[in-house]
Amino acid sequence: MRMPIGRYLELLLDACADDGGGVADYIPELAAADPDRVAVALATPDGEVYAAGDADLEFTIQSISKPFTYALAIADRGLDEVLESIDVEPSGDAFNEISLDEATGRPRNPMINAGAIAAHGLVEGADQDERDRRILDFYSEIAGRRLRIDEAVFESELSTADRNTAIAYMLRTVGTLEQPPLEVVRGYTRQCSVAVTVRDLARMAAVLAAGGRTPSGSRVLSPEVNRQVLSVMATCGMYDAAGDWLTHIGIPAKSGVAGGLVGVLPGQVGIAAFSPRLDEHGNSVRGVRIFERLNRDMGLHLMDAAEVAPAVVRRRLHDGIPVLEVTGDLRFVEAERVLRTFAEEREGEDVVVVDLTHVHHVNDVARRLLLEGIRRLNADGHPVRLVDPDRVLGSAEAGTGEIVHGEQPRGGYVPDRYEDAGAATRG
Ligand code: GLU
Repeated sequence: MRMPIGRYLELLLDACADDGGGVADYIPELAAADPDRVAVALATPDGEVYAAGDADLEFTIQSISKPFTYALAIADRGLDEVLESIDVEPSGDAFNEISLDEATGRPRNPMINAGAIAAHGLVEGADQDERDRRILDFYSEIAGRRLRIDEAVFESELSTADRNTAIAYMLRTVGTLEQPPLEVVRGYTRQCSVAVTVRDLARMAAVLAAGGRTPSGSRVLSPEVNRQVLSVMATCGMYDAAGDWLTHIGIPAKSGVAGGLVGVLPGQVGIAAFSPRLDEHGNSVRGVRIFERLNRDMGLHLMDAAEVAPAVVRRRLHDGIPVLEVTGDLRFVEAERVLRTFAEEREGEDVVVVDLTHVHHVNDVARRLLLEGIRRLNADGHPVRLVDPDRVLGSAEAGTGEIVHGEQPRGGYVPDRYEDAGAATRG
């Protein structure tokens, strides 16, 4: 079978063909971009990439670098130290506003240039070269291929970087920059000049969608850092159109003046679009349209409340013994439903079988709630027989003196089917 998603992306580009706006021209080299190019890519956390249009065309990452450098700065310095230097409030200002928050003296957020330049300066490195190298290595690791700097765009931007230089001197005067401002502006401009394709950006976004893991499963960002970055993208990612974007499209995103746009739907996909003409906010006109359309067709709004499974637990009697069969993925809300079923068991001596054969994933909160429920059932006098062939509860003390694990619990009666489940893990 040919996957229908690639074809869908081609149709999506056709549907978003109308263009408007103009290319960024404050960086001379960007003014030379072919404005008619357009591309889109979608990447899954396990590494599948679908793309259409000019998907192998390289362009400079520009401001889309900001969330990734911010992530690296937090990983290096810890969130508290980074928050001391850079706030997380949407500013509503233009991206290159020469301003700090009047009350705190900090840049308002890491997605505007003042905050991004400060974040760049917080990345660890013995000198600027090492800092530059670490940033390029990090982007390359999450893009899944070795990236390079577009030297022509770099030189071109550096020669016109007066505003960013002014911002860096301003940061230096309030003590936020440890290094000489010109060095940091140079490094920040190199970071903006990394050449990427929509495939690269979609893969980078998919790492954020996967909570900070690459498709091979290696962890590159802790869940806390990842969450911080996505939160800031959601509130501050789209220049001064962030509020409109979050309500209308509902995907944490970041745009860049070369025409790139990435979006991250947590737990689901990374998305990237590219088209050089920009609207009055500095966002790619067709990129925004592509996201609008994707959102409408695929229902990707972050605030669409996930549907809660109608039944996660079923109680039935097997030879007079209550069997609580649990199904699906368990988070807080599903675990609460299971606990309610536990609570309905009358106090007594009866064995209760809790069958987790059809549970695929249990998050940490749900796991702790379930273990507590099992402990309480035991305290009420019910010997609990747990069937957990895939060890979704791990190996944990349920407060019964007995370690809960995937094997058939010791002693007592259990229906045949459960013996089989236990035997499978013992074998
Ligand atoms: N290098 C650009 C600048 O700092 C990035 C701007 C952007 O993409 O928003 O001016």
